[in-house]
Amino acid sequence: EPLLNVTELFASVDDKPILKNVDLSLNAGETHVLMGPNGAGKSTFGHVVMGNPVYTVNGGSIVFDGQDITELSPDKRSRAGLFLSFQAPVEIPGVPLSSFLRASMAGRAEKELKGKQFRKHLQELAEELDMNPDYLDRELGVGFSGGEKKKVEMLQLLLLQPKLAILDETDSGLDVDALSVVSRGMEAYRRRCNGTLLVITHNTRILEHLNIDRVHVMMTGHMVAEGPASLVESIDEQGFDQFSDIEAEAA
Ligand code: ADP
Ligand code: MG
Ligand code: MG
Repeated sequence: EPLLNVTELFASVDDKPILKNVDLSLNAGETHVLMGPNGAGKSTFGHVVMGNPVYTVNGGSIVFDGQDITELSPDKRSRAGLFLSFQAPVEIPGVPLSSFLRASMAGRAEKELKGKQFRKHLQELAEELDMNPDYLDRELGVGFSGGEKKKVEMLQLLLLQPKLAILDETDSGLDVDALSVVSRGMEAYRRRCNGTLLVITHNTRILEHLNIDRVHVMMTGHMVAEGPASLVESIDEQGFDQFSDIEAEAA
């Protein structure tokens, strides 16, 4: 049974249809990539799987880890083991990063560590991400560079150890530092928890060190192609135009 099974999913925002009959299925331990031109609906897909109330599901189902989560609140989805990262410019003046991370673990008893142990665990993870542990005491997000925000996201990922991590790299460019943080984070997540990944990206450099099992291509809210890792190279060379016939047929 797949870990995530999305079937015939339709979703809209403000009565505007965005996702149209989307299927996507992935097994535990796999790494999948979701690609497509800007505006295709990739981020929307991530938000809808996570249950963002801005979007309305108009049809289809989302089954995660054997449970139909289509109607579940985002919080319950998170507790069921789903994680969505996107470049949210989190800034909470006065709150040190370590406190924020600790709070995001609250209520997950099985992973709750005592103060000192938590601190030690956090420091280990920071080292693994090549992150200066001094950052853990800094105010959340204030003056953080893109790369530093990425490190926060990756720390959260490694702390929460979700069953499935959806990493939305959005369209904005990541600098070399941020790229290496994301790569290290993904690697550590896979190594530490045999993690399952859905990476949403334009940036094929992020994929260079990743062992990709499956690639999905979305255009104007439709899934237009699915294939092995070599599909990334084909997109690199020929772009998304190679799928425009399929896109037209689906519309
Ligand atoms: P991608 O991530 O592939 O670039 P998005 O999912 O961000 O695409 O957007 C798909 C379409 O849905 C775009 O036309 C976008 O403007 C629209 N859209 C997405 N989210 C919202 C929203 N919250 N409000 C209004 N329109 C939205
Ligand atoms: Mg976009
Ligand atoms: Mg996007």
